[in-house]
Amino acid sequence: MICLISLTLYLLTHYGLIELFQLDMVKVRRFLVLVQEDYHNHNPYHNSVHAADVTQAMHCYLKEPKLAKSLTSCDVLLGLLAAATHDLDHPGVNQPFLVKTNHYLAALYRNTSVLENHHWRSAVGLLRETELFSHLPTEDSLNMERQLGSLILATDISRQNEYLSKFRTHLDQEDLCLGNTSHRHFVLQMALKCADICNPCRPWELSKQWSEKVTEEFFHQGDIEKKHKLEVSPLCDSETNSIADVQIGFMTYVVEPLFAEWARFSDTRLSQTMLGHLCLNKASWNAMQPEEAEGEQAAATEEPSSRALPQGSQEC
Ligand SMILES: [Zn+2]
Repeated sequence: MICLISLTLYLLTHYGLIELFQLDMVKVRRFLVLVQEDYHNHNPYHNSVHAADVTQAMHCYLKEPKLAKSLTSCDVLLGLLAAATHDLDHPGVNQPFLVKTNHYLAALYRNTSVLENHHWRSAVGLLRETELFSHLPTEDSLNMERQLGSLILATDISRQNEYLSKFRTHLDQEDLCLGNTSHRHFVLQMALKCADICNPCRPWELSKQWSEKVTEEFFHQGDIEKKHKLEVSPLCDSETNSIADVQIGFMTYVVEPLFAEWARFSDTRLSQTMLGHLCLNKASWNAMQPEEAEGEQAAATEEPSSRALPQGSQEC
């Protein structure tokens, strides 16, 4: 299993951030151990492996030439910490579930970005508990906490259109200036959003496993809702949804629009490879649909491989 602790520690060292910010190694280790422990590893999807996956993807985007030459060390530190902590203490159910079950978190955050606020406040709690930034001036550490919050809150998928139209407008007007602090922060938010939902852009064998895990978590929520005679949330009913249709909808309406804009911003080999995988993976899920309609047995035994699909095709 990928270890969130060793990956994050490796990246912090790789970017020279431990030395630059004079971070105490004992505190860094303790912070990362607590982060890993705060993830619920019995969640099929929202666990520390997902956090490690997002942190790895974030590192790849931070290395993209446009970002690498403009980001400050502080941006990189915040980007990595936000990725590692962005789903901290995730309960394995979504916001509508917390709202309809009158969970205390829904009341605390007034039904708005409930999970993301909780992930952020949990991360701040661990930063303070371990005193990771206690050697920095108070104003600096408070500013780090605020920016961490702004990055984590951007991962709220229900606010996707807001971020995406702002990104699109900037790209249309060609006015993103990465020398500008707020523009840089906005691009970091977009990078974290991409990292969070990049599973459909991974090669099929990996992507498929993530899809199965996330759907397992959705269906588990649906089962709890049925058990307690609550209305079953969209995409959470295993009797009316299949992994394929959940994935095709997610790819079409959420992932493709985001990555199309990301590729306009950073038109690199990585971006084109991700769009290529996305297209192939969607075709694979589409090919599985008729079998699933006829019976799940058939679908389970005839999983098409992306190798059987036309390679290099970028048109979906
Ligand atoms: Zn996430």
